[in-house]
Amino acid sequence: MVFQILFILVLALAGYFLTKSISQIKRNINLGRDEFLSDHPSLRFKQMMLVAFGQKKMFSRPIPAVLHLFVYVGFVLINIEVLEILIDGISGKHRIFLSFLGSFYGVVINFFEFLAVMVIIVCVIFLFRRNIVKVKRLNMPELARFPLFDANAILVIEIVLMVALLSMNACDGILQIRNPEHYGNTGSLIFSQFLSPLFNNLSSSNLVLMERTFWWFHIIGILIFANYLPYSKHLHILMAFPNTYFGKLQFKGKIKNMPVVTREVKSMLSIPLNEEEQLAASNLQDPGKFGAKDVPDLTWKNLMDAYSCTECGRCTASCPANITGKKLSPRKIMMDTRDRMEEIGKLLTKNKEIDNTKSLLGDHITSEELLACTTCNACVEACPINIDPLDIIMQLRRYKIMEEAKAPDSWNAMFSNLENNQAPWKFSPSDRLNWAKNNT
Ligand code: SF4
Ligand code: SF4
Repeated sequence: MVFQILFILVLALAGYFLTKSISQIKRNINLGRDEFLSDHPSLRFKQMMLVAFGQKKMFSRPIPAVLHLFVYVGFVLINIEVLEILIDGISGKHRIFLSFLGSFYGVVINFFEFLAVMVIIVCVIFLFRRNIVKVKRLNMPELARFPLFDANAILVIEIVLMVALLSMNACDGILQIRNPEHYGNTGSLIFSQFLSPLFNNLSSSNLVLMERTFWWFHIIGILIFANYLPYSKHLHILMAFPNTYFGKLQFKGKIKNMPVVTREVKSMLSIPLNEEEQLAASNLQDPGKFGAKDVPDLTWKNLMDAYSCTECGRCTASCPANITGKKLSPRKIMMDTRDRMEEIGKLLTKNKEIDNTKSLLGDHITSEELLACTTCNACVEACPINIDPLDIIMQLRRYKIMEEAKAPDSWNAMFSNLENNQAPWKFSPSDRLNWAKNNT
């Protein structure tokens, strides 16, 4: 009974802190501008199932995809065992699902053990790739300090949790022979039995103590893991689902126009607005400012993107600007957005106002980074969970150019050509056609 009360207290405490962190994340995402993204629910659901649940985009590189799949499936399915541990902890029972599942229980537990072993192997490979082989995209300057610690910490925690699970089962397997009345027969435990020699020589009372220690260690470790998640890049395990649900449904290359500018330009050129633009124009409000300078100027979806980023660097590895040595890294754009959002969030938690002396643009992301972007969309295409760093880059760049009037001279020349000639060149399209006529 004492252990049941203790367990419920631990659970309540973990639940309290987790709820608090989730509400802070929700508040931070809601710092962003409103954007309606609830249309076409069935298409959105399909996108979520394919991209987040089905990991569709991961399979463009099969080996990392299969490795990642083991960790992902292991994480999802082992939660069924965690559910049993939770019910056991509250009810004071031992392996409560055994009485419902009978001999099938052993099959399920052996499958979980297989996943646990695969998770250990894959996490060791991931640690090796990151720290020994030093895969380039996992060892870039933006990953120094906390991101590197975070990535390694999660892998180590997962290994430790899985070892605790297997050790618990190994002790349980021995106790099933020594005390069959209390420890129900699960049948042979294929993987954990290899750890049995470590515990075989213990007395039964010490063995029970070890089994309970691993049990507590495993469940407390999972509760700590759950509470660490909101501070970690591994939040993507959860955020990938809403993020892909609310992701772009149109083709990825479609850049969002600013309705107020579209209306002005089209009326200047006597071009009628299409249906979508008419709808946008009818809902037009004073934009206040063009583009985005800080986190509250971005949309809530941009901010959800930042919380969903797993810092895998696939975007940066396919960014032509980064590949050719420019300062731009789309992963850093997402990490900076999250850092700034959390900076503001911490001030709000302390009931302080948003610090307007700092901003995302300038203090975190520089003009040099923004101007290096070719808007090629490769980062969006490469992202396994449809994150859109380009949308943030575009909004910050619009602010720089339209509010601060700080465009490079060559860009200004192009803008005035567009305005005067409706073409980026110094001559109008009709002049160009004349040139073509004269040269045929
Ligand atoms: S859109 Fe910009 S940030 Fe994205 S890959 Fe292309 S150049 Fe890089
Ligand atoms: S934006 Fe996507 S591809 Fe880039 S680091 Fe984040 S999760 Fe990876």
